[in-house]
Amino acid sequence: MKRREFLRKSVLYGSAAVFAPSLLASCVEKAARQPLNIRQNPHKGKMNLSFFSYELQLRHTFTVATYSRKTTPDVQVRIEYEGYTGHGEASLPPYLGYTVEGTMAFLEKVDLSQFASPFLLEDILAYIDGLEEHQTPAKAAIDIALHDLVGQLTGQPLYALLGLNPDKVLDTCYTIGIDTPEVVREKTLECADMFNVLKVKVGYDGDEEMIRTIREVTDLPLVVDANQGWTDRRQALDKICWLREQGVQMIEQPMPKTMLDDIAWITQHSPLPVFADESVQRLADIPKLKGAFTGINIKLMKSTGIREAVKMINYARAEGMKVMLGCMTETSCAVTAAASLSPLVDFADLDGNLLISNDLYEGVGLCDGRLCLPDRPGLGLKDME
Ligand code: MG
Repeated sequence: MKRREFLRKSVLYGSAAVFAPSLLASCVEKAARQPLNIRQNPHKGKMNLSFFSYELQLRHTFTVATYSRKTTPDVQVRIEYEGYTGHGEASLPPYLGYTVEGTMAFLEKVDLSQFASPFLLEDILAYIDGLEEHQTPAKAAIDIALHDLVGQLTGQPLYALLGLNPDKVLDTCYTIGIDTPEVVREKTLECADMFNVLKVKVGYDGDEEMIRTIREVTDLPLVVDANQGWTDRRQALDKICWLREQGVQMIEQPMPKTMLDDIAWITQHSPLPVFADESVQRLADIPKLKGAFTGINIKLMKSTGIREAVKMINYARAEGMKVMLGCMTETSCAVTAAASLSPLVDFADLDGNLLISNDLYEGVGLCDGRLCLPDRPGLGLKDME
């Protein structure tokens, strides 16, 4: 199936449920998605935790300023309680520094038997956070699964649990990675009429060629992400000024996180809002970024999940900062969880499920470039047929 056709069907059906050119191929694909390596957490109680590793296959080699890859390691989590199953996910792109083995070792340690029900979110997640200092994707997986469970138990979609209006979800960006002009042109042509804003990866010598190539094809608004790729603040500011003339609306992480003073100087002079991504992981990171960035990019795999993400959004708002939601390459499990928060933020960059070819679920969809949340309880996931 051609990429364009896939994207169009994903827009309609909300995920990659479209790779079934024949019954046989469909069966093969379904079999390939069946977990063969389920591990049960040893602590038995009212809530039972299990998990399995699942390698995400990227549709295209994904290249940004600092790395390139074709797969993403991932661990899928299940928490069962009173006949319901909450789904969670830990996506582990190598640059985050976590591994499948480390994530599974952490999940083995978790003892949910001490808690009477998944409604004790604050207590459970405080306990989880205290088990180890890092392991943020594993913590996010449990947080997401618990929220899914609580939604199912109350019969409410996650957005309703959070008190949010599903009509206020946002458009999502669609990401164009660094590539040759020919490939960039082809990718842009394929997606330009299905999204309302595109995200372009920059931060290397070919930035201007990349933007000019895209501008030959579309005049859609753009956001750009330098992924820490620029190291000279004056050159970076010149690029940002030029990018603004090209219809770019904001810039993400222009320089390395270690160069905070230079980033603050850029933000002070920049005609575009400047968002932190690599510079911000969790709530405790935000205070030092005030004044250095216009806004922050929150990702569930960094924030330890939904509960802390909401706290981060509230804190950033109280400090007058803008907020965007991002994701890793993830299945529709974690992307749907993040999309449920999108009524609270300024930008959504939630295309991670569209970048993989072996999604496990149908969840959040797209309608004319806008996120579209399922109205089923919890995350509202359905297994991929
Ligand atoms: Mg980024």
